[in-house]
Amino acid sequence: MAAHNTDQVAISRCRRCGYEAESGSDSWNRIDSPPFTGITQCPDCGSTDVLTGR
Ligand SMILES: [Zn+2]
Repeated sequence: MAAHNTDQVAISRCRRCGYEAESGSDSWNRIDSPPFTGITQCPDCGSTDVLTGR
């Protein structure tokens, strides 16, 4: 019953420094201050200009 589908692994990338990690992983910082709840932040340079998805 193992359905391996690596195509479903989405990678997010920081547009400022090029940092890459799996979308939604603990590698990314998460901003939870309204109104920016759930915003992904680069742990490397602190930029929130992150491309999510693939
Ligand atoms: Zn960055």
